[in-house]
Amino acid sequence: NVRVRFAPSPTGPLHIGGVRTALYNYLFAKKHGGDFLLRIEDTDQNRFVEGAEDYIKESLDWCGISYDEGPEKSGDCGPYRQSERKAIYEEYVDKLIDNGRAYYAFDTEEELDAKRKEAEQQGTKFSYGPKNRDSLNNSLKLSSEELKEKLDNKEDYVIRFKTEAHKTLELHDEIRGYIEVDTEVLDDKILFKSDGMPTYHLANIVDDHLMRITHVIRGEEWLPSLPLHVSLYEAFGWDVPKFAHLPLILKPSGKGKLSKRDGDQLGFPVFPIEWKDPETGTISAGYREEGYFPETLTNMLALLGWNDGTDQEFFSVEEMIQKFELTRVHKSGAKFDPEKTDWFQHHYLQERPVEELVNQFMPILDKKGIKTETSYVKEVVHTIKERATFVSEFWELSFFYFEAPTVFEPKSAKKAWKKDSQEWMRALIGKLEGLEDFSQSHVQSEVKDWINTQDLGFGKIMQPLRLALVGAMRGPDVFHIASCIGKAETISRLNFAIE
Ligand code: GLU
Repeated sequence: NVRVRFAPSPTGPLHIGGVRTALYNYLFAKKHGGDFLLRIEDTDQNRFVEGAEDYIKESLDWCGISYDEGPEKSGDCGPYRQSERKAIYEEYVDKLIDNGRAYYAFDTEEELDAKRKEAEQQGTKFSYGPKNRDSLNNSLKLSSEELKEKLDNKEDYVIRFKTEAHKTLELHDEIRGYIEVDTEVLDDKILFKSDGMPTYHLANIVDDHLMRITHVIRGEEWLPSLPLHVSLYEAFGWDVPKFAHLPLILKPSGKGKLSKRDGDQLGFPVFPIEWKDPETGTISAGYREEGYFPETLTNMLALLGWNDGTDQEFFSVEEMIQKFELTRVHKSGAKFDPEKTDWFQHHYLQERPVEELVNQFMPILDKKGIKTETSYVKEVVHTIKERATFVSEFWELSFFYFEAPTVFEPKSAKKAWKKDSQEWMRALIGKLEGLEDFSQSHVQSEVKDWINTQDLGFGKIMQPLRLALVGAMRGPDVFHIASCIGKAETISRLNFAIE
């Protein structure tokens, strides 16, 4: 049974890279009929940020990425918040001490600093590991009585993992393939800190094991930790899950990792939903608040590092679940493309039921003081949505269906309104007044016939007419506008333009 997890640390808002990790885990789980867990990795109390956990949950919820087990959800592997699992980590680190795979280290910060300086002077870098740990201040050289005395005296300590010397680790990544690492390059990482909390490494492995995780799918930034993690599984005598490290998300320029700052600088959100920094109060834009649809974000993120081997670009979540394969995830970084995101958004706006778009547009109209019928708005939305990427653009694209333009855009006016326009618009009013049926097709054929019999160029009538109705040389078919606003309003706008 496939079990995967998304294990964010609540150290701030989840950036879209994190959402992609969650999405891939979700797709993989659902594809294999497995479980997707949310685990909050909050053992680093210094980096804890108020509100971050709620933000993560709300973001996943908005994106439609639901988890089967997690905080406030059922599941037999809880608690799903690491700060509530401290006793478990203590129990497991003791096992490593007992079997000789971890040890107490009493080195003070000053001592370690001195070692670092010394190494620097010799042009090397200090690392606490197999080569030098015997000469450092740790329990490896203490008798059990000496150790007991130090512990009884409450001397400060950390617990370190004892890396095996001279061993070649054979690692496998589902995306990157086979990786070989010599333990010589590793150091003895801290498993328990002096504040009595486990480090990410220990808590992560213990939990993945106890939560029966079969596949660890996470960002590439964790690849350097893989040798340690695999060594920890071996030290505990546990089966190693499968690992898949997802490619980085790069800046649109391709130069470097996409960061929180890029969004502000380039004018697009890097967060799924708006984030208000609890300390500074600064607000970072979110896709939700900017008017994007969740399916825009999930489709865009799915293709940021994966494709199904064809040219297909639009995928519903259902389709992604069917087609997702870890082996089709790319190795190299994926460039984030804000324009492509808008292209997806345009597509999904067209896919949304018109009724729903109308419901979103109604409050905007209401704020503008427009009183109108839903059926009328539906007709308008149906006509203009093709030109829109966001519902927030609807008003600008359609205001002339609801109120008369009060200004004429100067460039358009210059182009459309000629010396004889006044005279022709008067004549057109005369023609329109005689029409009983003011439907789009009828007005259109009548006006076109009339233009033909006058032996006029179309532009002479159509351009000033559009200017009068819209205020600019843009918008949908003029006859559609005319028939929607009706005969009286059309004539009134023409009269206004003539004056
Ligand atoms: N807590 C880690 C993070 O914030 C989890 C990494 C992992 O999935 O192992 O990304």
